[in-house]
Amino acid sequence: MNISSNFDSGNIIVNKIDGFSAQLNIRKDTNSAFSQWFHFRVDGVFGEHCTFSITDAGETSYPDGWEDYHVCASYDRKYWFRVPSTYENGVLSFELESECDAVFFAYFAPYSFEQHLDLVHEAQCDPKCSLEVIGKTVEQRDMHLLKIESDDVCEKKNIWLIARQHPGESMAEWFMEGVIGRLLDDDDAVARKLLKTCRFYLIPNMNPDGAIAGNLRSNAAGANLNREWASPSLEKSPEVYHTLAAMRKYGLDMLLDVHGDEAIPYNFVAGSEGIPSYNEELHQLEEKFKAMWMSTCPDFQDTYNYGRDEPGKANMGVCTNQIAEQFGCLAYTIEMPFKDNHLDPDPEQGWSAEKSVALGESVLLAVLGFDSAQPTVSD
Ligand code: ZN
Repeated sequence: MNISSNFDSGNIIVNKIDGFSAQLNIRKDTNSAFSQWFHFRVDGVFGEHCTFSITDAGETSYPDGWEDYHVCASYDRKYWFRVPSTYENGVLSFELESECDAVFFAYFAPYSFEQHLDLVHEAQCDPKCSLEVIGKTVEQRDMHLLKIESDDVCEKKNIWLIARQHPGESMAEWFMEGVIGRLLDDDDAVARKLLKTCRFYLIPNMNPDGAIAGNLRSNAAGANLNREWASPSLEKSPEVYHTLAAMRKYGLDMLLDVHGDEAIPYNFVAGSEGIPSYNEELHQLEEKFKAMWMSTCPDFQDTYNYGRDEPGKANMGVCTNQIAEQFGCLAYTIEMPFKDNHLDPDPEQGWSAEKSVALGESVLLAVLGFDSAQPTVSD
């Protein structure tokens, strides 16, 4: 049995291989103490019963994430299924009787940089969509911004969606694939209606350096981008610096920042109730958005979440808090599970890439509700 991780978003340390049993560790994020994401390939295992132990799982960033979690696996790198996993005494153990010569394992279905390039380049071929490089990452990769806009001539709201500030939360880019696909579908009435009054700014991958490196939360400089929004710097967090500059340049009326949560097995949102300028108007916008999403998508709920920040106690380094304060607008962090959605469990796949795409498609109805909540010039 051979184990490798020298590829896009690969992450594993092999401590010992004994027959078809391996003892593994997770490598820490670049210049950072975070760890949790793993992604590796095993070969020479056709028909063999293989067992794996991640012996440092209890020392990762979110040990609660391993409770009731099952590892993702794929033979064809398209369909990802779960393999039975247990977490005991700080060790994550899982096993598979392999149906093929080689198999991939990952924390969640990966979204590679090649997929990212396909996503933005296919999108830009639609006349409604343009692709702009807004700056460079720490490792000098391009930061891609998609703008989707119809040619209706009227006052429009600027709706922003960004994803993968935390690069190991690959479900966030699957979600963006759903958003982009639906917005560009001329046969979709929701998309057509939205584009009459809204212009969309979309950053499907905020942290390509970290994603390629196989990091959970950090960029190449070791920064947690979702704590950098109060004072981003070109040295440590250019990804946030350039994004904030683009938001100021183009304007922003609403932001959704897409994430995954290691521990909580539900889809939920986190709002900006702890910012200094929070008021009843913003509260009503938040409630309306949540109610609209819940009434139109059974995968979204508002019972299980992070709880509410105390008034004035928000962490202003967090993207949605900083943006809600600066722009006086609705800004939600969207969280999806790494585990499963306990509202509607799926023992085969758990929460999946496919469900993340569908959830991304579904959020546009909630945006439509938000848009019609406010008076528009054109209608
Ligand atoms: Zn996150």
